[in-house]
Amino acid sequence: MKSRSLTLCGLFLGLTLATGCTPATENNGATDSGATPETPSTEATGEINLYSSRHYDSDAELYEAFTEATGIEVNLIEGSDDELLERVRTEGQNSPADVLITVDVARLWRAQADGLLQPTESEVLTSAIPAELRSSDNTWFGLTKRARVIVYNTETVQPSELSTYENLADPQWQGRVCVRSSSNTYNQSLVAAKIVEKGVEATEAWARGLVANFAREPEGNDTAQIQAVASGVCDVALVNSYYVARLRASEDPQDQEIVANIGAFFPNQDDGGTHINISGAGMLANAPNPEAAREFLEFMVTPEAQEIFANNNNEYPVVASVAPNATVAEFGEWTASTLPLESFGEQNAAAVMLMDRVGWK
Ligand code: FE
Repeated sequence: MKSRSLTLCGLFLGLTLATGCTPATENNGATDSGATPETPSTEATGEINLYSSRHYDSDAELYEAFTEATGIEVNLIEGSDDELLERVRTEGQNSPADVLITVDVARLWRAQADGLLQPTESEVLTSAIPAELRSSDNTWFGLTKRARVIVYNTETVQPSELSTYENLADPQWQGRVCVRSSSNTYNQSLVAAKIVEKGVEATEAWARGLVANFAREPEGNDTAQIQAVASGVCDVALVNSYYVARLRASEDPQDQEIVANIGAFFPNQDDGGTHINISGAGMLANAPNPEAAREFLEFMVTPEAQEIFANNNNEYPVVASVAPNATVAEFGEWTASTLPLESFGEQNAAAVMLMDRVGWK
């Protein structure tokens, strides 16, 4: 991740709190080192300081395109969602952070609820992004979307047997379901969405039935669930669409072997639509460069940026006129839920408690 237009995380080690610095890959590789420590400016500089929990080296392409289009340099600081939010809290009024980019609406909503973000009033953003994919107070904006799909083993499951998330609680799936841990925000947001849609009681009954059908205790990330389905540990699993697309697009024979007998089903087509989530961004409350931050956010909904941004992680663009990449397009047409994503954040705590009550580890 070398780039002339990017100042990497390693440059920020001079800060009192350096926990936000992690490698730019999903593995724990080494951070850049050898750079002279310097503190990012809290003065307006005509640059922006970007805090990102998206660990995709390829996002650098996006930031370079922004710099090329606007002349505004991007100083990138990477970390986990929790690390970055904690860092912004600790830095307080002295925070150099202009923009926060993160995955999953629960994190953006948390930042909003804690007063860490400020509104960006922009006709460009509100006209480009569907209302359900951004906050009602304009503090955060969905920039790509992902679907939570049911993956199934094509040798043991017919797509005609699949219908809804709710159906996975049916006894026919006993001992056949793999799901990631309840500590993961993807499942928290799905349960929160069900609470919004159907209420706590109905959602709890469903979640209890789902847990009763688990093939094993939750373990591993979404890719691990796909591997478990491929190897026969379970027959179905809930995962984000881009994990399937990433494996399908991979030239690694091992990845190809995993997805050879994997189908992806978009549930609830006749019952509220498939659950979606976002990668999104918002301007920090104490942003030293609010004008540049607004320009950055607006650049993110240009066709050029939408294509790069969505392609980098095989997600769907939020701007309707921009097509998904070829691998993602192979999923075909499907109907998404139109519940406001903001409501998932509001119900996140209730979802976590519910998952605990039903024994979703
Ligand atoms: Fe993910």
